[in-house]
Amino acid sequence: MQAMVFEGVGKPLALKQLPIPAPGDDQVLIKIIACGICRTDLHVLDGELTSPKLPLVPGHEIIGTVVSIGRNVQDIKGNDLVGVPWLGYTCGTCKYCRQGKENLCENAKFTGYTLDGGYAQYTVAFSKYCFKLTEQYHNAQSAPLLCAGLIGFRSYHMINPKATNIGMYGFGAAAHILIQIAKAQNKKVFAFTRDNDSKSQSFAREFGAYWVGGSSDTPSEKLEAAIIFAPAGELIPKALKDLDKGGEVICGGIHMSPIPAFSYDLLWEERVIRSVANLTRDDGLNFFDLLKSITVHTQTELFPLSRANEAIAKLRKGEIKGAAVLVMEQA
Ligand SMILES: [Zn+2]
Ligand SMILES: [Zn+2]
Repeated sequence: MQAMVFEGVGKPLALKQLPIPAPGDDQVLIKIIACGICRTDLHVLDGELTSPKLPLVPGHEIIGTVVSIGRNVQDIKGNDLVGVPWLGYTCGTCKYCRQGKENLCENAKFTGYTLDGGYAQYTVAFSKYCFKLTEQYHNAQSAPLLCAGLIGFRSYHMINPKATNIGMYGFGAAAHILIQIAKAQNKKVFAFTRDNDSKSQSFAREFGAYWVGGSSDTPSEKLEAAIIFAPAGELIPKALKDLDKGGEVICGGIHMSPIPAFSYDLLWEERVIRSVANLTRDDGLNFFDLLKSITVHTQTELFPLSRANEAIAKLRKGEIKGAAVLVMEQA
């Protein structure tokens, strides 16, 4: 099979011919339809996430069809359409798993980081961490739901459900999905892009943002919650300035540049800063359940697998409108 392989920081992904993997116990073999490119993949390639398996097939926004199953697999069968997210395995026995916080599992494995992922024609995945999907997701456009969608959803669920004015800092793959959910629930979304990024600003307007501006602009109303998707630490004190009393800043990314020092005044009055780490399987089930009643569409730019490096370069430069997705050329 063809795969784009990460061999070390600073090297472009290499197009390789690899044997199709065999599913182990509890695993399924998946013929991949498409795999989205997540910003986390950039953090892996740049060495900001320091413990990848090497060599590694990146990618954790996988849509594919099950072609064979390993021993002990009961929940999934051949021909099922599945999505494979970032959370690839948990131990079930550590204190976090026992407390229902499997996203923090001490022995977790992550797709496209410590397990091979989806920049390939095939992958294996632990069946209990795959989401069974209905036929409506049988397309490349659904791939970004598996991380951009899911992490956006988990971040959104961290905020007070009664909050109305919600800021989204960084309007890319995650925000353009989440805004559709927020609007369906009558929220006002304030979209912040890089300063003077008129393309992203008109993109946010197309999706119905209530207010659109650059990250250093002051929104027209105080916010009750701020979700930060851009990996820029300086957005935390800025978001605190934009927040009303009791408001929350949720950091949706796995990596951020250092946070500059700020005055306690900005945090005072019960403002909160918190991060969102990974996801639980319940997040996925709840997310796809919600999508039964809210239709979201994703804006994607599709690339053949072999052009992954080009897609990554465009994402890095902020030139992707929505999400970049690799589509497999099935031989
Ligand atoms: Zn665990
Ligand atoms: Zn991701």
